[in-house]
Amino acid sequence: MSDPLFQRVALIGIGLIGSSLARVMRREKLAREIIISTRSEATLKRAMELELGDYYYLNAAKAVEGADLVILCTPVGACEQVAKQIAPHLSEGAIVTDVGSVKAAVIAAVKPHLPTTVHFIAGHPVAGTEYSGPDAGFASLFENRRCILTPEEGTSPAALEKLIKYWQSCGSEVETMAPEHHDLVLAVVSHLPHIIAYNIVGTADDLETVTKSEVIKYSASGFRDFTRLASSDPTMWRDVCLNNKDAILEMLARFSEDLSALQRAIRWGDGDSLFNLFTRTRGIRKQLIEAGQESPAPNFGRQNEAGDPAQ
Ligand code: NAP
Repeated sequence: MSDPLFQRVALIGIGLIGSSLARVMRREKLAREIIISTRSEATLKRAMELELGDYYYLNAAKAVEGADLVILCTPVGACEQVAKQIAPHLSEGAIVTDVGSVKAAVIAAVKPHLPTTVHFIAGHPVAGTEYSGPDAGFASLFENRRCILTPEEGTSPAALEKLIKYWQSCGSEVETMAPEHHDLVLAVVSHLPHIIAYNIVGTADDLETVTKSEVIKYSASGFRDFTRLASSDPTMWRDVCLNNKDAILEMLARFSEDLSALQRAIRWGDGDSLFNLFTRTRGIRKQLIEAGQESPAPNFGRQNEAGDPAQ
């Protein structure tokens, strides 16, 4: 058997992302030992029952001892406190990375606490679901999905290469970019859609007192597609909003401007503008399907009772 890529990998946080990594690492034999740490006894016990690792610790500092790869898989807002806790216990030459959905703020929070003898390379697998916890993970989560690494100037090329190989072995296509650029791109493709979904579902929930069960009854006409995003983990999304504030506010400002233009077109009966926008946006979905990032099945492959996509 060929040598695994890493000897001892410590996962700090074992929710959707951490447990998916544990599962794919096991399947691909990427680590000789998988060490799991999480803050609550209940989650640690569940990780044990699922046999996600080889050793289990509530204490993150203990978990990173002797690890040659440490991956922070906690919500973004917890990264600084975890970094402080593990820093004195990291092995010389270890690679430390994270999976947070925001990059500049995580680097600013984590890097100052780490010793210069470790290689810190921040990362973000652009793959996920609306579910959380160790039961939610699955080994194929990262397959054919992008993983963005945001190495800073002076990063060891050997460490970067090894981390790229790790994510490729998990099934991802790896790209590197500046942390600030990552945050701007993700603000458009991920953060803004989630915020809009939270807002729409919140508005409908407020209306529900007037229309009672009709929101639920007629949800297949569009509303329910927003509820998937709006059911994502509240802690994770609170932290994303607080830690990517500038880029999100910039995107929300642009969104509001475009929404005003749309409002105006509707008010003035400007059918051409509406038709042109709706045609352009339909083309974007076609591109997604062609890029293999979405299923071409109507209505995301869902069937209603009649077997037709609902409108
Ligand atoms: P999750 O399923 O909610 O799991 C979070 C894990 O972090 C749990 O083990 C939890 O421990 C631990 N944790 C929570 N708060 C903590 C704290 N204050 N201190 C220490 N540990 C804490 O989360 P996830 O979906 O895997 O997300 C983890 C990271 O991946 C986030 O930074 C998120 O931005 C990023 N990400 C998520 C997605 C997605 O779709 N979900 C996609 C890409 C990247 P206990 O259960 O023991 O409390």
